[in-house]
Amino acid sequence: MKQFQYIRPSTQQLVLDAIAKPGSKIIAGGSNLVDLMKRGVMSPDKLVDINKLPLRSITPAKTGLHIGALALNSQVAEDKQVTAEFPLLSQALNAGASPQLRNMATVGGNMMQRTRCTYFYDTAMPCNKRVPGTGCGAMEGINRMHAIFGASSQCIAVHPSDMCVALAALDATVVIQGRKGTRRLKFTDFHRLPGTTPELDNNLGKDELITAVEIPPNHFAQNSYYLKVRDRASYAFALVSVAAALDIQDGIIKDARLAMGGVAHKPWRLTAAEQLLKGKPATIATFEQAAKIAMEGAKGYEHNAFKLQMAPAAIVEALTHASKLV
Ligand code: SF4
Repeated sequence: MKQFQYIRPSTQQLVLDAIAKPGSKIIAGGSNLVDLMKRGVMSPDKLVDINKLPLRSITPAKTGLHIGALALNSQVAEDKQVTAEFPLLSQALNAGASPQLRNMATVGGNMMQRTRCTYFYDTAMPCNKRVPGTGCGAMEGINRMHAIFGASSQCIAVHPSDMCVALAALDATVVIQGRKGTRRLKFTDFHRLPGTTPELDNNLGKDELITAVEIPPNHFAQNSYYLKVRDRASYAFALVSVAAALDIQDGIIKDARLAMGGVAHKPWRLTAAEQLLKGKPATIATFEQAAKIAMEGAKGYEHNAFKLQMAPAAIVEALTHASKLV
Protein backbone atom coordinates (compact mmCIF):
# COMPACT_ATOMS: atom_id res chain seq x y z
CA MET A 1 0.00 0.00 0.00
CA LYS A 2 1.25 3.50 -0.80
CA GLN A 3 2.31 5.54 2.23
CA PHE A 4 -0.12 8.26 3.25
CA GLN A 5 -0.56 10.95 5.87
CA TYR A 6 -3.33 10.73 8.44
CA ILE A 7 -4.95 13.64 10.27
CA ARG A 8 -7.96 13.88 12.59
CA PRO A 9 -9.26 17.47 12.57
CA SER A 10 -11.58 18.52 15.38
CA THR A 11 -13.69 21.09 13.51
CA GLN A 12 -15.68 21.17 10.30
CA GLN A 13 -13.63 24.14 9.04
CA LEU A 14 -10.37 22.23 9.51
CA VAL A 15 -11.85 19.27 7.61
CA LEU A 16 -12.96 21.56 4.76
CA ASP A 17 -9.51 23.17 4.62
CA ALA A 18 -7.85 19.74 4.52
CA ILE A 19 -10.03 18.22 1.81
CA ALA A 20 -9.60 21.30 -0.40
CA LYS A 21 -6.02 20.14 -1.03
CA PRO A 22 -5.47 17.69 -3.91
CA GLY A 23 -4.85 14.08 -2.88
CA SER A 24 -6.88 14.29 0.34
CA LYS A 25 -9.66 11.85 1.08
CA ILE A 26 -12.20 11.71 3.88
CA ILE A 27 -12.32 8.57 5.99
CA ALA A 28 -15.08 7.74 8.49
CA GLY A 29 -15.79 4.02 9.13
CA GLY A 30 -13.31 3.02 6.41
CA SER A 31 -15.19 -0.16 5.61
CA ASN A 32 -14.83 0.34 1.84
CA LEU A 33 -11.98 2.84 1.49
CA VAL A 34 -9.42 0.74 3.38
CA ASP A 35 -10.13 -2.25 1.11
CA LEU A 36 -9.71 -0.04 -1.94
CA MET A 37 -6.40 1.30 -0.63
CA LYS A 38 -5.07 -2.19 0.17
CA ARG A 39 -5.80 -3.25 -3.39
CA GLY A 40 -4.28 -0.12 -4.94
CA VAL A 41 -7.60 0.94 -6.46
CA MET A 42 -7.49 4.22 -4.53
CA SER A 43 -4.28 5.74 -3.21
CA PRO A 44 -4.86 9.07 -1.43
CA ASP A 45 -1.88 11.09 -0.17
CA LYS A 46 -3.72 12.10 2.97
CA LEU A 47 -6.60 10.61 4.94
CA VAL A 48 -8.79 13.13 6.74
CA ASP A 49 -10.51 11.28 9.58
CA ILE A 50 -13.78 13.08 10.39
CA ASN A 51 -14.77 11.01 13.45
CA LYS A 52 -14.16 13.92 15.83
CA LEU A 53 -16.95 15.96 14.22
CA PRO A 54 -20.30 16.07 16.08
CA LEU A 55 -22.28 14.47 13.26
CA ARG A 56 -23.46 11.26 14.91
CA SER A 57 -26.88 12.20 16.27
CA ILE A 58 -30.32 11.25 15.00
CA THR A 59 -32.84 13.94 15.91
CA PRO A 60 -36.39 14.99 15.03
CA ALA A 61 -36.35 18.17 12.93
CA LYS A 62 -38.87 20.57 11.38
CA THR A 63 -38.07 18.98 8.04
CA GLY A 64 -38.59 15.45 9.43
CA LEU A 65 -35.84 13.24 10.74
CA HIS A 66 -32.27 14.57 10.75
CA ILE A 67 -29.58 11.87 10.61
CA GLY A 68 -25.98 12.97 11.10
CA ALA A 69 -23.55 11.77 8.46
CA LEU A 70 -21.49 9.91 11.07
CA ALA A 71 -24.45 7.98 12.50
CA LEU A 72 -23.57 4.30 12.26
CA ASN A 73 -25.64 2.06 10.03
CA SER A 74 -26.53 -0.13 13.04
CA GLN A 75 -27.43 2.94 15.14
CA VAL A 76 -29.86 4.19 12.47
CA ALA A 77 -31.35 0.74 11.89
CA GLU A 78 -32.17 0.41 15.60
CA ASP A 79 -33.25 4.00 16.27
CA LYS A 80 -36.75 4.13 17.78
CA GLN A 81 -38.02 6.91 15.49
CA VAL A 82 -36.59 5.17 12.42
CA THR A 83 -38.18 1.82 13.25
CA ALA A 84 -41.53 3.46 14.08
CA GLU A 85 -41.80 6.05 11.29
CA PHE A 86 -39.38 4.89 8.59
CA PRO A 87 -39.22 1.09 8.90
CA LEU A 88 -38.26 0.86 5.23
CA LEU A 89 -34.90 2.45 6.08
CA SER A 90 -34.36 0.13 9.02
CA GLN A 91 -35.12 -2.93 6.89
CA ALA A 92 -32.79 -1.77 4.11
CA LEU A 93 -29.93 -1.13 6.53
CA ASN A 94 -30.34 -4.52 8.16
CA ALA A 95 -30.29 -6.14 4.71
CA GLY A 96 -26.86 -4.65 4.03
CA ALA A 97 -23.40 -6.05 4.80
CA SER A 98 -22.89 -7.86 8.15
CA PRO A 99 -23.46 -6.82 11.79
CA GLN A 100 -19.74 -6.07 12.20
CA LEU A 101 -19.70 -3.81 9.14
CA ARG A 102 -22.94 -2.08 10.13
CA ASN A 103 -21.27 -1.24 13.46
CA MET A 104 -18.43 0.53 11.63
CA ALA A 105 -20.05 1.98 8.50
CA THR A 106 -21.54 5.47 8.64
CA VAL A 107 -24.46 6.97 6.73
CA GLY A 108 -22.18 9.31 4.77
CA GLY A 109 -19.74 6.50 4.04
CA ASN A 110 -22.55 4.24 2.87
CA MET A 111 -23.50 6.90 0.33
CA MET A 112 -19.88 7.29 -0.81
CA GLN A 113 -19.08 3.57 -1.19
CA ARG A 114 -17.82 2.53 -4.60
CA THR A 115 -19.22 -0.09 -6.93
CA ARG A 116 -18.35 -3.73 -6.31
CA CYS A 117 -17.74 -4.43 -10.02
CA THR A 118 -14.90 -6.98 -9.91
CA TYR A 119 -13.07 -5.30 -12.80
CA PHE A 120 -12.99 -2.05 -10.83
CA TYR A 121 -11.18 -3.88 -8.00
CA ASP A 122 -8.74 -5.72 -10.28
CA THR A 123 -5.99 -3.27 -11.22
CA ALA A 124 -4.79 -5.60 -14.00
CA MET A 125 -8.10 -5.15 -15.86
CA PRO A 126 -9.41 -2.22 -17.90
CA CYS A 127 -11.94 -0.04 -16.10
CA ASN A 128 -13.12 3.41 -17.12
CA LYS A 129 -14.23 4.15 -13.58
CA ARG A 130 -10.82 3.41 -12.04
CA VAL A 131 -8.72 4.76 -14.92
CA PRO A 132 -10.78 6.81 -17.40
CA GLY A 133 -10.22 5.89 -21.03
CA THR A 134 -8.95 2.34 -20.42
CA GLY A 135 -12.19 0.59 -21.40
CA CYS A 136 -14.79 -1.45 -19.56
CA GLY A 137 -13.85 -5.01 -18.67
CA ALA A 138 -17.41 -5.87 -17.69
CA MET A 139 -19.06 -4.87 -20.96
CA GLU A 140 -17.96 -8.09 -22.70
CA GLY A 141 -16.91 -9.86 -19.50
CA ILE A 142 -18.68 -11.41 -16.53
CA ASN A 143 -21.47 -8.90 -16.02
CA ARG A 144 -23.89 -10.91 -13.91
CA MET A 145 -24.15 -8.25 -11.16
CA HIS A 146 -24.38 -5.29 -13.53
CA ALA A 147 -26.91 -2.67 -14.59
CA ILE A 148 -30.05 -3.05 -16.63
CA PHE A 149 -31.04 0.64 -16.41
CA GLY A 150 -29.19 3.88 -17.20
CA ALA A 151 -25.88 2.29 -18.25
CA SER A 152 -23.60 3.84 -20.88
CA SER A 153 -21.07 2.56 -23.39
CA GLN A 154 -18.42 3.54 -20.81
CA CYS A 155 -19.69 1.74 -17.70
CA ILE A 156 -22.43 -0.71 -16.69
CA ALA A 157 -21.66 -0.83 -12.96
CA VAL A 158 -24.29 -0.63 -10.21
CA HIS A 159 -24.32 1.25 -6.93
CA PRO A 160 -24.05 -1.35 -4.14
CA SER A 161 -25.97 0.31 -1.29
CA ASP A 162 -29.25 -0.89 0.22
CA MET A 163 -29.65 2.12 2.51
CA CYS A 164 -29.50 4.50 -0.44
CA VAL A 165 -32.36 2.72 -2.21
CA ALA A 166 -34.62 3.30 0.80
CA LEU A 167 -33.51 6.93 1.14
CA ALA A 168 -34.22 7.55 -2.55
CA ALA A 169 -37.71 6.08 -2.11
CA LEU A 170 -38.33 8.18 1.02
CA ASP A 171 -37.61 11.52 -0.71
CA ALA A 172 -34.62 12.19 1.53
CA THR A 173 -32.44 15.28 1.21
CA VAL A 174 -28.66 15.38 1.54
CA VAL A 175 -27.18 18.26 3.56
CA ILE A 176 -23.77 19.27 2.21
CA GLN A 177 -21.23 21.67 3.69
CA GLY A 178 -18.74 23.50 1.51
CA ARG A 179 -16.34 26.34 2.23
CA LYS A 180 -18.92 28.82 0.90
CA GLY A 181 -21.84 27.49 2.91
CA THR A 182 -24.48 24.78 3.16
CA ARG A 183 -26.48 23.35 0.28
CA ARG A 184 -29.23 20.76 0.10
CA LEU A 185 -29.60 18.19 -2.66
CA LYS A 186 -32.44 15.78 -3.33
CA PHE A 187 -31.18 12.30 -2.52
CA THR A 188 -32.21 11.12 -5.99
CA ASP A 189 -29.87 13.77 -7.47
CA PHE A 190 -26.88 12.84 -5.29
CA HIS A 191 -25.67 9.79 -7.25
CA ARG A 192 -25.00 10.01 -10.98
CA LEU A 193 -25.46 7.85 -14.04
CA PRO A 194 -22.14 6.90 -15.68
CA GLY A 195 -22.55 8.72 -19.02
CA THR A 196 -19.11 9.70 -20.32
CA THR A 197 -17.68 10.30 -16.83
CA PRO A 198 -18.07 6.98 -14.99
CA GLU A 199 -15.22 7.96 -12.65
CA LEU A 200 -17.72 10.27 -10.93
CA ASP A 201 -20.12 8.34 -8.70
CA ASN A 202 -21.99 11.34 -7.35
CA ASN A 203 -22.42 15.11 -7.40
CA LEU A 204 -20.48 15.88 -4.22
CA GLY A 205 -17.66 18.36 -4.86
CA LYS A 206 -14.14 17.23 -3.91
CA ASP A 207 -14.04 20.04 -1.34
CA GLU A 208 -17.47 19.30 0.16
CA LEU A 209 -18.58 17.27 3.16
CA ILE A 210 -21.87 15.40 3.69
CA THR A 211 -23.11 16.50 7.12
CA ALA A 212 -26.59 14.91 7.28
CA VAL A 213 -29.49 13.24 5.57
CA GLU A 214 -33.04 14.42 6.24
CA ILE A 215 -36.22 12.43 5.67
CA PRO A 216 -39.56 14.25 5.45
CA PRO A 217 -42.58 12.93 7.35
CA ASN A 218 -44.78 10.51 5.39
CA HIS A 219 -47.71 8.11 5.67
CA PHE A 220 -45.84 4.99 4.59
CA ALA A 221 -44.92 3.45 7.94
CA GLN A 222 -47.74 0.89 7.93
CA ASN A 223 -47.17 -0.32 4.39
CA SER A 224 -43.53 -0.49 3.41
CA TYR A 225 -41.17 -3.32 2.58
CA TYR A 226 -37.56 -3.75 1.49
CA LEU A 227 -36.93 -6.85 -0.57
CA LYS A 228 -33.37 -7.90 -1.39
CA VAL A 229 -32.68 -10.75 -3.78
CA ARG A 230 -29.12 -12.02 -3.45
CA ASP A 231 -26.98 -15.11 -3.84
CA ARG A 232 -26.91 -15.93 -0.11
CA ALA A 233 -28.94 -14.83 2.89
CA SER A 234 -26.43 -12.35 4.34
CA TYR A 235 -23.25 -10.47 3.52
CA ALA A 236 -23.98 -10.33 -0.21
CA PHE A 237 -24.79 -7.47 -2.54
CA ALA A 238 -28.18 -7.29 -4.22
CA LEU A 239 -28.81 -8.87 -7.57
CA VAL A 240 -32.01 -6.86 -7.42
CA SER A 241 -33.62 -5.03 -4.51
CA VAL A 242 -36.89 -3.13 -4.18
CA ALA A 243 -37.93 -0.44 -1.69
CA ALA A 244 -41.72 -0.23 -1.72
CA ALA A 245 -43.78 2.24 0.32
CA LEU A 246 -47.52 2.66 0.02
CA ASP A 247 -50.17 4.83 1.64
CA ILE A 248 -53.29 2.65 1.46
CA GLN A 249 -56.70 3.84 2.60
CA ASP A 250 -59.78 1.58 2.33
CA GLY A 251 -57.92 -0.68 -0.09
CA ILE A 252 -56.96 2.17 -2.45
CA ILE A 253 -53.39 3.34 -2.95
CA LYS A 254 -53.33 7.06 -2.14
CA ASP A 255 -49.60 7.48 -2.60
CA ALA A 256 -46.64 5.30 -3.54
CA ARG A 257 -42.84 5.29 -3.56
CA LEU A 258 -40.81 2.69 -5.37
CA ALA A 259 -37.07 2.38 -5.95
CA MET A 260 -34.70 -0.40 -7.00
CA GLY A 261 -31.13 -1.34 -6.16
CA GLY A 262 -28.67 -3.58 -8.00
CA VAL A 263 -29.97 -2.38 -11.35
CA ALA A 264 -28.29 0.98 -12.07
CA HIS A 265 -25.32 3.23 -11.29
CA LYS A 266 -27.57 4.99 -8.77
CA PRO A 267 -30.63 4.06 -6.70
CA TRP A 268 -33.26 3.71 -9.42
CA ARG A 269 -36.49 5.48 -8.59
CA LEU A 270 -39.54 4.11 -10.47
CA THR A 271 -41.65 7.25 -10.84
CA ALA A 272 -43.81 6.03 -13.75
CA ALA A 273 -44.79 2.96 -11.73
CA GLU A 274 -45.54 5.16 -8.71
CA GLN A 275 -47.91 7.26 -10.82
CA LEU A 276 -49.67 4.15 -12.07
CA LEU A 277 -50.18 2.87 -8.53
CA LYS A 278 -51.84 6.06 -7.27
CA GLY A 279 -55.62 5.77 -7.07
CA LYS A 280 -55.62 2.06 -7.92
CA PRO A 281 -56.77 -0.80 -5.68
CA ALA A 282 -53.96 -2.54 -3.81
CA THR A 283 -54.14 -5.82 -5.71
CA ILE A 284 -51.68 -8.17 -7.40
CA ALA A 285 -53.10 -7.14 -10.78
CA THR A 286 -52.26 -3.49 -10.05
CA PHE A 287 -48.76 -4.43 -8.90
CA GLU A 288 -48.15 -6.42 -12.10
CA GLN A 289 -49.13 -3.39 -14.18
CA ALA A 290 -46.73 -1.23 -12.17
CA ALA A 291 -43.92 -3.77 -12.62
CA LYS A 292 -44.49 -3.82 -16.37
CA ILE A 293 -44.19 -0.04 -16.61
CA ALA A 294 -41.18 -0.05 -14.30
CA MET A 295 -39.26 -2.28 -16.69
CA GLU A 296 -39.63 -0.03 -19.73
CA GLY A 297 -36.19 0.79 -21.12
CA ALA A 298 -34.42 -2.05 -19.28
CA LYS A 299 -31.55 -3.72 -21.14
CA GLY A 300 -29.72 -6.88 -20.17
CA TYR A 301 -26.19 -8.03 -21.03
CA GLU A 302 -24.83 -11.54 -21.62
CA HIS A 303 -24.78 -12.68 -17.99
CA ASN A 304 -27.39 -10.49 -16.33
CA ALA A 305 -30.38 -10.87 -18.67
CA PHE A 306 -32.04 -12.89 -15.90
CA LYS A 307 -32.60 -9.58 -14.09
CA LEU A 308 -35.17 -8.66 -16.75
CA GLN A 309 -37.43 -11.35 -15.24
CA MET A 310 -36.18 -11.11 -11.67
CA ALA A 311 -36.75 -7.35 -11.33
CA PRO A 312 -40.48 -7.23 -12.17
CA ALA A 313 -41.11 -10.31 -10.03
CA ALA A 314 -39.30 -8.59 -7.14
CA ILE A 315 -41.39 -5.44 -7.60
CA VAL A 316 -44.62 -7.43 -7.40
CA GLU A 317 -43.38 -9.34 -4.36
CA ALA A 318 -42.23 -6.19 -2.52
CA LEU A 319 -45.53 -4.41 -3.19
CA THR A 320 -47.46 -7.51 -2.12
CA HIS A 321 -45.56 -7.57 1.21
CA ALA A 322 -45.91 -3.81 1.66
CA SER A 323 -49.67 -4.00 1.20
CA LYS A 324 -49.85 -7.00 3.56
CA LEU A 325 -51.55 -9.20 0.97
CA VAL A 326 -49.29 -12.02 2.20
FE1 SF4 B 1 -15.22 -0.33 -14.64
FE2 SF4 B 1 -17.77 0.35 -14.79
FE3 SF4 B 1 -16.81 -1.29 -16.57
FE4 SF4 B 1 -17.03 -2.11 -14.05
S1 SF4 B 1 -18.70 -1.61 -15.42
S2 SF4 B 1 -15.29 -2.41 -15.45
S3 SF4 B 1 -16.68 -0.22 -12.94
S4 SF4 B 1 -16.16 0.83 -16.28
